[in-house]
Amino acid sequence: MPAPALSHMLAQLIATPSVSSVSPQFDMGNRAVIDLLAGWLESAGFLVEILPLEHHRDKANLIATLGDASASDGLILAGHTDTVPWDAARWRFDPFVWTELEGRGYGLGSADMKSFLALAIEAARVFKAGDLRQPLIIVATADEESSMDGACLLARLGRPKARFCVIGEPTNLTPVHLHKGVMMEAVTVFGRSGHSSDPDKGLNAIDGMTRVLAALTAWRDSLKLQQNAAFLVPYTTVNFGHICGGDNPNRICPQCAVHFDVRPLPGMDGAALRYALRERVQAALKDTDFTFETHTLSPGVEPFSSGEHSQLTAFLTQISGKAPKAVAFGTEAPFYKALGCDTVVFGPGRIDEAHQPDEYIELSALDDTVRMVRALIARCCL
Ligand SMILES: [Zn+2]
Repeated sequence: MPAPALSHMLAQLIATPSVSSVSPQFDMGNRAVIDLLAGWLESAGFLVEILPLEHHRDKANLIATLGDASASDGLILAGHTDTVPWDAARWRFDPFVWTELEGRGYGLGSADMKSFLALAIEAARVFKAGDLRQPLIIVATADEESSMDGACLLARLGRPKARFCVIGEPTNLTPVHLHKGVMMEAVTVFGRSGHSSDPDKGLNAIDGMTRVLAALTAWRDSLKLQQNAAFLVPYTTVNFGHICGGDNPNRICPQCAVHFDVRPLPGMDGAALRYALRERVQAALKDTDFTFETHTLSPGVEPFSSGEHSQLTAFLTQISGKAPKAVAFGTEAPFYKALGCDTVVFGPGRIDEAHQPDEYIELSALDDTVRMVRALIARCCL
């Protein structure tokens, strides 16, 4: 029994909510999406494994293999099953109904990136296990939009292994061989509360924070010295996104925290950046009575580069007719690269359409994707 028609798979995936969020009130499981994919892939002749996430009963990854799993090369087509939360009041359409209108397919996850998972199955439809000299592996993960727990589980298991890996995030079918990393960090300054009428009776953490912000701003400027012209914003960015401290105007503020993100260029090391950040804060508060803590708010994503000698970048450049480029968003690519795969980000839809109301994918991209992914499977697996 073959997998169902593409239109049916798209509609079913969009109709199955799988929001992941760092805020527990929005967070859902992805298991229903994994079960749909597992059923279709089994029908299509794949050997399917479901890998539940520890501590999350309703979340899992899926690894599905067509052909000889013991062969050493092969191709992974990878995607995440979760979506970001949605803003119901701002959607013109039901986010959970695949709606085709004027050349577009609307739905939550249409571009980012449920469509790619259906398209990977559609592309695989014409290949028989016995014809493949190298395995075709379809991987679907949980929690890419939040904790990256799905990709972290793959990293811990050291699986899957293949020579090549395409991550079908929305790049408008342009090979993406570079992206920045994403780190989310916090610094908390501690002082001592007291009555505002006598500032010397306390230690105002907001005063400490002004020193820390000055130091972090200087650090941010220093990070601009290293540039990579492949990126639209060619340097490592630091954005102060949240600050909070104190309660009442007449009370000396005992504690103040700033949260910020850092988007490092490829080649920069997260641990080294965290060390430098700590040094800067320490120097800023030297010779004061303030104490501080730094901590990492989310494990984030390392920067990514396919590498100069990536054969997959060359294949996809040829198949798509588009030169490889760099993007500013993070993906699971560094995880697959660490598993030893020649990895490129390449999928239908545009990132500008993702994470917002009326998310859509151009319907013309569906056929193009199937054609290009089939050409790639033929190149890597036959
Ligand atoms: Zn995505």
